[in-house]
Amino acid sequence: MNNGALQLPLDLLDHLPVSVVIVTHDKLVFANPAACRLFQADRPEDILGHSINEFIHPLDQQRVLARVRRAEETPLTNPPTEYRIYTCKRNLVVLGMTSTTYVYQGEISLLAAFMDMTERTAMEARLRESDEQFQRMMNTMQDVFYRTDTEGITQYVCPAVKQVLGFSAVEIIGRPAAEFYPNSADRAALKETILREGFVRDFPGQMRRKDGKIIDISISSTVILDEEGKYAGVEGIWRDITERRELERELERRATTDELTGIANRRTILGQLEHTHQRYLRHHQPLTVFILDLDFFKFINDRYGHLAGDQLLKQIVDAVQLQLRNIDLFGRIGGEEFILIMDDTPPAEADEIGLRILHQVRSQRFNIGAGEPIQMTVSIGATCAKPGDLNLTSLLERADKALYLAKESGRDQLCWDG
Ligand code: GH3
Ligand code: MG
Ligand code: MG
Repeated sequence: MNNGALQLPLDLLDHLPVSVVIVTHDKLVFANPAACRLFQADRPEDILGHSINEFIHPLDQQRVLARVRRAEETPLTNPPTEYRIYTCKRNLVVLGMTSTTYVYQGEISLLAAFMDMTERTAMEARLRESDEQFQRMMNTMQDVFYRTDTEGITQYVCPAVKQVLGFSAVEIIGRPAAEFYPNSADRAALKETILREGFVRDFPGQMRRKDGKIIDISISSTVILDEEGKYAGVEGIWRDITERRELERELERRATTDELTGIANRRTILGQLEHTHQRYLRHHQPLTVFILDLDFFKFINDRYGHLAGDQLLKQIVDAVQLQLRNIDLFGRIGGEEFILIMDDTPPAEADEIGLRILHQVRSQRFNIGAGEPIQMTVSIGATCAKPGDLNLTSLLERADKALYLAKESGRDQLCWDG
């Protein structure tokens, strides 16, 4: 009863480096020397006559027995598989096996050939483990890890990118990284620095999210070189620093603006004056400076209270700003006193702006929620920078003197120094 199953001259198997066994009724009835070695059998009797269940790992028994049964029922060759056995010395070995139906000494049997796959499996397990670690890290990381090739095409981006950009990794991989930069100069600067330095740390930039929102990012990356040391692309991480940037901008805004009126505070406007004045000393562009002081403001406080006074201050600042140009620098230097810097502006032009401011404030009615709308006026002291003004003191003194003159001459007017 052959059933067309395979016949082999068994002595050849003595020299075969592959392990071969024959299993009849679940018992090992033949094992070539390679199989004995693999099973760590000192003598063939250590395995021959023994049930295969003595060796197969409990978790794999069902699967292996099913294959044996299948081959017993119909002649067939089982596809390769892997399973674990315990050797005679109770070591765990992973086998890579293929088996086929075989009639041995008149009995339907299974002829199996196998090799020790323990090493490969262990290596795969290690690879798998490190890959799983990598994937876990990529999934939980707040930063976005990426890699681009020499053409700037994204080769890899970790799944965390979805939370930050709204695009999934699949939507980004294969596309030019530049597509996600709203400002191409950012990306160019980044690339230029990486190529020059070999790396960047906390390089600032921006990216466009899927919903169109622009986010601030910080990039740390290094150049990748191929085996020949040639540029092969860039890899690194970037993170969304929008919140941090907004906080910084907010802190910066608070440090430079006047809390009540929202215009430049004393330190900022004096800094701007210093800067503009330095430019004047180099270029002698016409530079006009006003000091503005509200008229009889104390009266408002006394009559309506300090909070109403604050309201009024805000509204007057808004009124003045209606008459300013983009280039004018306006700031609060104290209580109800302000500086207006008009760079590149000759006195005649500045005078016109001053008169418009006076008119604006005078003609407006300010509603501070305290009965009748209030009418206010402002006095302005004006001066132009002169070559002899080596520092701001003389310039500001002249403007102050002019302001005093405006007050003395009846207020609601603009006076020039001298
Ligand atoms: P003058 O026409 O001479 O300028 O009269 P004035 O009452 O405006 O006098 P002065 O400029 O010397 O006084 C300014 C007053 O403005 C003093 C103070 O009561 C008030 N003041 C200063 N800073 C603030 C502020 O931030 N809020 C309010 N509500 N009042 C302020
Ligand atoms: Mg004052
Ligand atoms: Mg005043």
